[in-house]
Amino acid sequence: MDIKNYSKSELKARLDELNNIYAGYKAMNLSLNMARGKPCKEQVSLSDDMLSADLFKSFAAEDGTEIRNYGNLDGIPECKRLFSEILGVPADNIIVFGNSSLNIMYDYIAQCMIFGAGDTSWLKCDKVKFLCPVPGYDRHFGILESFGIEMINIPMTNEGPDMDMIEELVKDSSVKGLFCVPMYSNPGGVTYSDETVKRFASLKPAAKDFRVIWDNAYCVHHLSDDCDSLLNIFDEAAKFNNEDLFIEVTSTSKISFPGAGISALAASKNNIAAIKKRMTVQTIGHDKINQYRHAAYFKNLDGIKNQMKKHAEIIKPKFDAVLETFSRELAGKGIAKWNSPKGGYFISLDVVPGTAKKVVALCKEAGVVLTGAGATYPYGKDPEDKNIRIAPTFPSYDEIVKAAEILCVCVEKAAIESITE
Ligand code: PLP
Repeated sequence: MDIKNYSKSELKARLDELNNIYAGYKAMNLSLNMARGKPCKEQVSLSDDMLSADLFKSFAAEDGTEIRNYGNLDGIPECKRLFSEILGVPADNIIVFGNSSLNIMYDYIAQCMIFGAGDTSWLKCDKVKFLCPVPGYDRHFGILESFGIEMINIPMTNEGPDMDMIEELVKDSSVKGLFCVPMYSNPGGVTYSDETVKRFASLKPAAKDFRVIWDNAYCVHHLSDDCDSLLNIFDEAAKFNNEDLFIEVTSTSKISFPGAGISALAASKNNIAAIKKRMTVQTIGHDKINQYRHAAYFKNLDGIKNQMKKHAEIIKPKFDAVLETFSRELAGKGIAKWNSPKGGYFISLDVVPGTAKKVVALCKEAGVVLTGAGATYPYGKDPEDKNIRIAPTFPSYDEIVKAAEILCVCVEKAAIESITE
């Protein structure tokens, strides 16, 4: 029953009951963590064979490049081909980088600040603004905040960001870009609809150097065969001569090893040329030994898909456990809404407005660490204090079940307290 329909005495009785359950959990001195989207040990172990010396049939890439030595700026051919298959973009439009796509994104914004993106340095602009679909990825916001770029919230719908708002706001030439996660968004798990992708592809921003950072971190991270699909942004943008607007990034962090995988950028011919020009000053080349072993181990997109099926077998039961607990403990009470993602790394939970911070604090006291409330919004400020990001992959199955139960008790306790106080 919706708690709004409870009488005063029913509310008090339920709160007493919840307080007892909560005290019981506190007494267990638990230490559970649902805060960061990290693969668990079983997941990283899936790629252990990649660490075998047997994988190195030779120390030459297929074009003869000696992988142990200097040389090769943009990636060995077999690795570029692998990312070309993953992203559906020609290998000539791919640059392979080091282990982190976040690093590519940070560098890209840094170069826009210093040198510009085909126009003037953003440092010389009076104001630089970015549009931020919310809730979103805290580290995107962190990059923008660190450069003093003003962030404007764009609400997410279940088709992607509010495109009417984006189309209107890009008429302002100080709006220089947007970070987004078009597939299994972090944290909402939303995959952009065909219409949303087409509207992105046909954007007509006033700023000549407007850039969309198309962070396709979860492009192969399906939880089952019943998965989402995403239109190819470069195919769509080509219809409007808009390819220069998009910088796509991805990585194998959650395919092979976070921190020891490989990342890649896909972009138009013009953008690839500009980025390579900068890179010739910045590096002699990235880690070709790692590129070689990733290409040798996965071979092609089928190899990646097989690995992702094994990941899904490990993590889907954890997602299901959280969702089943939410349905059992929270559904119908009018105190929470959540998504059931078909892929990615997160579940997004909206609690009663004004209680998210309290829920996170209550969980912490009971030994369950969650991502800080507000983290999914620019400047750490969730205007309604209602969104909480749940990361179910890292803890064990039993831990995640317990953590989800405790979370539900805290959500309901905070909701009733907010009504009765
Ligand atoms: N982009 C998104 C949307 C993420 O959720 C994450 C990690 O959680 C990253 C990028 C980080 O990627 P990388 O490990 O390649 O730096």
